[in-house]
Formats: sequence, C-alpha cells, structure tokens
Amino acid sequence: MDPRVRGWSFSAGPAALPRPVRDRIRDEFDDFDGTGRSLVELPFSAPAFRDVVARAERDLRALLAIPDDYAVLFLQGGASAQFGLLPPNLGVGEAGADYVETGYWSRRTIAEAARVTRVHIAASSAGTDFDRIPDERDWRVRPDAAYVHVTTNETADGIAFHRAPRVADIPLVADMSSDFLTAPLDVAAWGVIYASAQKNIGPAGLTVVLVRRDLLGRAHRSVPAVFDYTLQAEAASMFNTPPTFAIYVAGLVLAWLRDAGGVAAMAAANRRKSAAIHDVIDGSGGFYRCAVRPADRSRVNVCFRLADEALTGTFVAAARDAGLFDLAGHSRVGGVRASLYNAVPEAAASALAAFMRDFQQRHG
Ligand SMILES: *Cc1c(COP(=O)(O)O)cnc(C)c1O
Repeated sequence: MDPRVRGWSFSAGPAALPRPVRDRIRDEFDDFDGTGRSLVELPFSAPAFRDVVARAERDLRALLAIPDDYAVLFLQGGASAQFGLLPPNLGVGEAGADYVETGYWSRRTIAEAARVTRVHIAASSAGTDFDRIPDERDWRVRPDAAYVHVTTNETADGIAFHRAPRVADIPLVADMSSDFLTAPLDVAAWGVIYASAQKNIGPAGLTVVLVRRDLLGRAHRSVPAVFDYTLQAEAASMFNTPPTFAIYVAGLVLAWLRDAGGVAAMAAANRRKSAAIHDVIDGSGGFYRCAVRPADRSRVNVCFRLADEALTGTFVAAARDAGLFDLAGHSRVGGVRASLYNAVPEAAASALAAFMRDFQQRHG
C-alpha cells in the first residue's frame, strides 16, 4: 500500500486521482509555473492559464484522436446539467429525441430531458432489471428523432456498452461520465459526448463536452449563453470564468494518462482489475453475485451483492477498516460497488480481491 495514505479509494465519484497528480498539485500550489502566485489566483485571461487550457485540449485530442471537426468544451454544471441542456442545444423539434434506458443514470437523463422535450424510449432493459444492454436489433429508433441518447457506462448498475451502437443517419449522443478515457473511443461515431470530470478526468466542477461542429448553431434562444455550445466553442470555453482549478488538475491527469501509455494501456489495466474482482465473484459458489450479463459488465464499476444481503453492511465496514474505502453500492441500487477507474492502481484491485476471499472464508 502507498505509505502516505491509509488505504484505497473505490469511490464512484468524486473518485481517486493519480498519486503523481496529487503530489504535483501540492508541490506547485503556491507558485504556479514561475508566476509567483497560485494557479487559483490567476485571472483566466493570464497567458499562463491560457496555456493550461490549450495544453489540456491538445492532450485530450491526442489521447482520443479527436477529429478536427469536433469542438472540445470545458463547461460547468456536471453531466446532470447537460441532461436538460442537450435537447435545446441540439435544437430539438416537435418530434423530440430518442433515449435508451439501461439503468439509474439513463433514467435520470430521461426524466430531465422530458422536462424540456418529448422523449421516446427506443429501447429499455427495465424488464430484466437492468441486467444487460438491450439487443440493438430490437431498438425502435424514430427516423425523425433529433438524436439518440445512450449512457455508455451505467455507474450505479455496472452495465456498459463496449462499442458504439449503429444508428443510421441520426446523431448519437452519449453520457460517458464514468467510462470516458477508460478505453479507446471512436469519437467519429458520436455527435455529442459529455462527461463529468470527477470519475476519470479530474476533480468535480468540470464537464467535458465534445460536439461535432455541424451540430453547432442550433441552440434554442432559451439556452443560457454560458451553456450554449456554439458560444462556448467560439470563446474557447472562456465565455465566462471557467473552473480554473478543475481544468488545471484535469490537464495534469491527461498528461499522466499520456505518460502512462494512453487509453489503450488504461483499457488493458481496467480489464485486469475488473477481471480480478469478477473472478472472485464467479468463483464464490454464489456467496457473491453479479446480476449483469457477462458480455455487458462494466470494466470500471463492478456491482455485486452478497447472497446474504444482511451481511452487506458488515462487508463494507470491514473493508473500510482494512483500508478499502467507499464500497457501498449506489443508494438507489444497494449492494456493493467497486469503482476501478484509471487512477485506481492494480494493487488496489488485488487487495480488494484478497479481502473478498478472506471475508467469504470468515462468513461463508
Ligand atoms: C456521475 C454521473 C453523472 C452525474 O454527474 P454530476 O456531475 O453529479 O452531474 C451522470 N451520469 C453518469 C453516467 C455518471 O456516472
């Protein structure tokens, strides 16, 4: 274990930050880049801060090979703000938009979108208690829908799309809050991608939005200027004060990611980490159970239950005492959830796997 900390964070968000990033923040907090002041004291117009934004965008573009015809926006408000801002930003009309319902977060998205537009559920796995991604052949996408929305990784349910669905001629939109940067991504398959930062990108307070440029210029007049994709793209995300500290930390995370081998290396590590936990679950003879169909299991949020549900609290408390923090499942879902984002080291996943085996020995 890292000698400077008391344990590992398995928090679903705000989540673990890479150790070298935390060290760097501490080291340069009082004097940023020779400016004689802290980054958090710099005006956002200062050249040193403009460099931070430019470098973060450049590294993000390189990591995901983002094509030039996509704008990269650094906004505030979290993914939850985007739930309601997407429809008017994309100029949704009478027909409304199509949504795929796969768990807790897509339901939240749908509820919020329904406040501002007509929502049609093109597919849902509610009927099987969100244990899978609905078979694409059964999707009922309307040709006049403004877009089709999916949640690529259901953070609370542990379900994930492992590739982009194929939807002809309608922009695909994704909430990628919990799997952004955790694996290679074909950006060109998507019209809009948005993600809260506090899972894999940096601290809370920043929301990254990628928009294909042909979708700009459609916003309804009701969209506040600070959330208008077009205005923020024209202003390089500095229409108003951006979340300077969060962008700075995100920049450090992106540089760390690049030096650690990029998203392909992250994908390989995330596979190994999630497999280590699933191996224990699947080999436990039913002591631990994961309801999600194996092909659709998330590689960053492993959600499972103890067959004896009454032991869940004991499990989470004993894990915490062993330095394995924040393993309780989402409050609406229950059970146990291990979030294994990029900054969670493989040693943490191994420690959790060993703890789970030991816990079963003691309580099985
Ligand atoms: C965390 C999360 C959100 C909510 O993010 P906020 O920043 O709290 O708005 C939305 N969608 C998914 C998939 C998430 O994991």
